[in-house]
Formats: sequence, C-alpha cells, structure tokens
Amino acid sequence: MVENERISQVRGWDEVPLDAELHDFGDLLLLPGLVDTHVHINEPGRTEWEGFRTATQAAASGGVTTLVDMPLNCVPETIDVTALEAKRSAAQGKAWVDWAAWGGVVRGNADSLRPLAHAGVPGFKCFLIHSGIDGFTPVDETGLRLALERLRGTGLPLLAHAEVAGPVNAATEALHASGACWHTYATYLASRPDAAELEAIALLIRLADEFETPIHIVHLASAQALPLLDEARKRGLPITVETCPHYLWFGAEEIPDGATEYKCAPPIRRAENREGLWKALEDGLIDMVVTDHSPCPPAMKRRGEGRWDLAWGGIASLGLALPVIWTAIKQRGIPIERLAQWMAAAPAHLAGLAGRKGALAPGADADFVVFDPDAPWTVAPHDLHFRHKLSPYLGAKLNGRVLGTWLRGEPVFRGDNFKGEARGREQVRP
Ligand SMILES: [Zn+2]
Repeated sequence: MVENERISQVRGWDEVPLDAELHDFGDLLLLPGLVDTHVHINEPGRTEWEGFRTATQAAASGGVTTLVDMPLNCVPETIDVTALEAKRSAAQGKAWVDWAAWGGVVRGNADSLRPLAHAGVPGFKCFLIHSGIDGFTPVDETGLRLALERLRGTGLPLLAHAEVAGPVNAATEALHASGACWHTYATYLASRPDAAELEAIALLIRLADEFETPIHIVHLASAQALPLLDEARKRGLPITVETCPHYLWFGAEEIPDGATEYKCAPPIRRAENREGLWKALEDGLIDMVVTDHSPCPPAMKRRGEGRWDLAWGGIASLGLALPVIWTAIKQRGIPIERLAQWMAAAPAHLAGLAGRKGALAPGADADFVVFDPDAPWTVAPHDLHFRHKLSPYLGAKLNGRVLGTWLRGEPVFRGDNFKGEARGREQVRP
C-alpha cells in the first residue's frame, strides 16, 4: 500500500482493504525500483554526450528509479560545491527518476571534500590512472591518503577506479614497439593487463585497513583480484565491490575486431574470467551490479577506423541491465531475489539510501518495476532511450521486459511511453 509517495504497508492478497485503489499486475513480477550508482550523465557541459533528460528516461525505461552520477565528464567536474550547484541547476525540470551526485577526488582538492560532504554528496570517486578527462586528474597514494584523512569519520565511501598506470603503460609501450595491430581486440585487452587491477586493489586494501574508511571498488573486471578481496573481507575490512553487466555478459573471444562500442576500461576479459566473476557474485564477494553507462558522441568511437587505441572508452547500456542480468541468471538457475539484492538493495546501501530506496518495505519510497519475466525480444535502436543509439547490446536476444516503472507512487514509464512529467528529485545525504 502506498501513501504519500511511500510504501505504508505490505499485505497479503486477501488482506487488501476494500476502499483501497487496487492495481492488479497478475502473474507479472513486482520488483523494487533499481538503483544504479554508476552512471555518467555528462551534464552540464557535455550534454551532447548524454544528459539528465535522456539518461533518466533511459533509466525509467529499464526499471531504474535512482541514478547516482559520476563526477567526471561534466563541465565543471563535480570536485567542489560550486560545481555541485551547477549540476543541481542543470538537473532542474529534466530528471525523470531520482538522482544523486558523487563528489570527485582529484589532485589538489582535499579541502573541498568536507564542504561537498556537508552539501549532501553520498560519497566520492577517484581514479588511480588517467581518467580520459584532463580536468579529472588521477591520485597517487599520497593523494589517496590526503582524501581518506578528510573522509575519516564521515562514513562516506571512497569509490576508486582500480587500475594503476604502471602495468598499462608498460604493456602499451611493448605492444607499440612490437608493431601490434590496434584493430584487433586482443591487442587492446593485452594493453590493460590484470596486473593493473591487482596492484590498485592491493593498495586500496592496505589503505582501507589503515584508515578504517569504506572503500568501494568500481567495475571490477579481473577475477584474479578476487582472492585478495576475499581475504580482505574475511579480515572485516570495509571494502565493497561492484561489477557491470558487460563483464558478466560478453567475453573477449566474441568481440569482433574494430568493434569499439565494446571498449571500456578495465576491458572485457575472457569467458573463463567472466565465470569467476559470476561465482563471486553468487558467493556474495561481489556486492552489486551497476551499469557504468558511459556514452559519447558516435564519432568519438571512430568506428570507421576501428582503432582500439584511438576510440573513446565507455559502454552505453542504461535501461538494459535488468533484462540482461535476468536473462543470464535465468539460464544459470539463480533466483530473481539475488538480482534485487545486487541491483537495488546493495547499491542503495552504498549511496546511503538504504531503507529509502531499493526495497519493497514499509517506509521505502514507492518505486516499483512491473516486469514480464517471459518476454523474448531482440535489442533494436528504438529500444534505447539514451541519447546516442550505439551499444554493444544491439542485436542481443534477451528475455524479460519492463512493462512499467513507478516513481514514488506514480507511473513514469508504461507500455513503452513516458508518463507525466520529469518529477525526479535529488537524494541528498543528510
Ligand atoms: Zn565509469
């Protein structure tokens, strides 16, 4: 039952009061609105890449009712309160689902972290390697220490892109020196070795131990890092881990040469590695699945040349994650309750929204997805609601379709149409 935008009670079928307005979804599944804590909205400043309207509509079409925006790709980058205010202005009247913004940790902005925390960001993101955006500089161990010093005691997590430059630079130089072909996916894969993730994660574990501050590994791609993480978690260190649908769905062996819509960093690794990630998800060592939706104008993918070294990195997938992961877990015999944990409850907790988002429980916002678990379909450009209809999932055969998405008690998407108006609100951490 819904009252004042929230779930007031969860009752059995035969306990519904006679005067209640009843919506009967038959045998369809009702899931909590999904929470995606890894999305690059790119607005303000790069709205031609993506924007609040297109990103939040894509989210609504895929059953996602809360997005958390990454602090890079927008101009200005969200690295101080002035930039956060610019983002808030840019979002006015354009957000179709609820949203929040991670703050950024870059070289030299340690003094901005506490003010950003007071202004309501749910946590911070940093890179240990060049981010692709010159204004969003990576931090080394010294920079990480400065940031963790400031975050200590706030309870806010530090999210880290866990690759270090050393192994990537060495591998890339060796590939160039040997005249490797950059049209071939295997060359790109070899240029971002597992060692880059392993070194970064070892450093982050050491710092989580020392500072006792929550650290979150974004988009884990290498299954080789799992034993390190397992050992850290068994010691009780405050480390959480996410992976993304593309690491769970694709395998390096099947990526065509030149198909730069698959380019992301860390890269999609081999099928055997993918199976390791699935096992860690099932075992609970990987906590969540979020998209890392990171689009760009199609020209920047340089599809014509198909050069992996020159193309922009980032996979566009917002709106597809639910049917992709459902299709995969159905084949693997994993129950849908696990999906709700990985894609709603766990990311809500990371963003400080536990109890409010990501749950079908009294007190939570009335955010729902009505999902048909037995609808086969093939992804076509008109199914994509983000700005540029370029995605490695085009042509994917999926099972399960979002029929409706409800935000705080009202439908925002139903039967392939957006309903009402942009009612999305920023979720500010108290
Ligand atoms: Zn990202």
